[in-house]
Amino acid sequence: MEEVYKRLKKYIDKKRNCIICGSNKFYLWGRLYYLGALRCRGCGMVSVNPHINEDGLKIFYGTYLRNRFENKVLCHDRKIMYKLEYEFINKFISRGSVLDLGCSGGFFLNEFDRRKWKRKGIEIDSNAAHYAKKKFGIEVIEGDFSDLDLGKEKFDLVVLRGVIEHCIEPGSYLKKCASILRNKGMLFITATPNIESFCAEVYREKWRLFTPIEHLHFFSVDLLDKILHPFGFELVEKKYFYEETPYANLPRDYEKMKRDILLIAKGRRDIIKDSVPFWGNMITAVWTIKK
Ligand SMILES: [Zn+2]
Repeated sequence: MEEVYKRLKKYIDKKRNCIICGSNKFYLWGRLYYLGALRCRGCGMVSVNPHINEDGLKIFYGTYLRNRFENKVLCHDRKIMYKLEYEFINKFISRGSVLDLGCSGGFFLNEFDRRKWKRKGIEIDSNAAHYAKKKFGIEVIEGDFSDLDLGKEKFDLVVLRGVIEHCIEPGSYLKKCASILRNKGMLFITATPNIESFCAEVYREKWRLFTPIEHLHFFSVDLLDKILHPFGFELVEKKYFYEETPYANLPRDYEKMKRDILLIAKGRRDIIKDSVPFWGNMITAVWTIKK
């Protein structure tokens, strides 16, 4: 077993009911070592259950992901993704106030034109928060969104980029998002793994986005919509970036997908290292709220 999994094994939480429909009837979707992702028989939601608890996750984010921010600074490919995702959201809303939850070093917020946008971020990692302030002049509140009191402040756009799958309680997190949006404000969820993707179905635990220590919940746009609808959100548009991304290489991805499907059909999923970039892997979607 990998060292990080070994070390975190004692931090396992208790088993929970489905975060969407409350059912306790599941079947196993995929497993990595001792962490199993269960699919709800009621609504189809997939969650790591039980998952690593808050104390374990603190150790994980503090130790194992320490270098992630530094890597992000150098990450040219991600910069292309920021541009693609910014162009997407800009079609629906092009000025106002934006709050990026888990904004890291402010790289995505920096795509937002400061003459049209009042930009703000929330970030738990103080290095990243300082970088965003220093490098881009972006106001960043240090802390965990779940615990912060933002007073009466409301926003036109709330961004969750690669964030919601890390939340222990996505329902209350999204409810809080609803509370800080203005009427007709928008919620932008992007760079979140799509459990309904072809890759997820084919590769299961070998899907490269199946990282069950930190990715606690696996959504589709429909599953997110099930959580968001009761808070007044309506889906505006969804998109799955692939061909236009720097990660795509169609002939290579096709070839590997074909080989891997044949291996899996022979019962040899175990020898596959990881999955391919492919259509549908990542969710990009925008909702609007009526209050
Ligand atoms: Zn359910």
